Amino acid sequence: MPHLYAVIGNPIEHSKSPRIHAAFARETGQDIVYERILAPLDGFADTVNAFRHSGGAGANVTVPFKEQAFALADQLSERARLAGAANTLKFTGTGIEGDNTDGAGLVADITRNLGFRIAHKRLLIMGAGGAARGVALPLLAEHPAQLTFANRSIDKALLLQQQFTPYGAVAACDYPALNGLQFDLIINATSASLTGDAIPLPPNLYAHGSLAYDMMYGIGETAFLAHARSEGATQCADGLGMLVEQAAEAFFVWRKVRPATAPVIAMLRKPT
Ligand code: NDP
Repeated sequence: MPHLYAVIGNPIEHSKSPRIHAAFARETGQDIVYERILAPLDGFADTVNAFRHSGGAGANVTVPFKEQAFALADQLSERARLAGAANTLKFTGTGIEGDNTDGAGLVADITRNLGFRIAHKRLLIMGAGGAARGVALPLLAEHPAQLTFANRSIDKALLLQQQFTPYGAVAACDYPALNGLQFDLIINATSASLTGDAIPLPPNLYAHGSLAYDMMYGIGETAFLAHARSEGATQCADGLGMLVEQAAEAFFVWRKVRPATAPVIAMLRKPT
């Protein structure tokens, strides 16, 4: 009998996760079935429990349910606890284990696929929502010189600074306060790319050899990446690699097997 997994979200029809996990399963010879499940906005827990009782072995969770998945889990990994959100659930005989693989996916994409070393670098995360919070701990584990959160609403950035200060050198500010500073890695973790908005940034933020990384993917060059290119960022990347790497980390959580990711990233980049 194949082991049953799913991605649960709302909306869900555009999720690339079933394609990604089917490719991982083919490559590693794992006997799994992976489907997509649309959960009603007021029915996430019921959907998870129904899937679990129908034989599901685990699930990925996407927008807007990651915080609810966190609340539903009986046990949490340290990275899920600090993220305040879970994107990976594993069903065991004793309950639901919640994990968060987004940050590990981002770090794997940046360090392995893009060949960018985070240690001793100056990092800027734009945004202070769930995505920013979810990736902070794995980024700090790479020992950057400093991690700065910049956000339109400064209060949220200050909260993240407070939360993550025990794990490294962390600063917080709003966008105008970035004037005169330079960074080696700038990550757009806002949802501004969804609406096509460009966040007004001061000039000369990008240091020599810098990487601009947009967690958004699948919409061509975003306003953030176009601006980074015009400002002289050395490397620009979208979040497709992160998507595949967080999926590979979830696959590992469930199956204890690490799939190759490069062929899957290449497959998804091919025009259909
Ligand atoms: P949230 O809604 O939790 O947070 C949104 C953030 O964006 C806030 O910091 C908000 O600022 C900021 N923001 C939104 N619009 C603007 C704007 N016009 N100008 C300035 N700031 C703005 O969203 P998430 O953190 O969950 O998601 C953020 C992005 O990350 C999404 O685009 C998502 O697709 C992407 N993502 C990608 C993943 C991948 O695998 N590649 C995984 C997870 C997320 P304020 O607080 O001031 O409102």
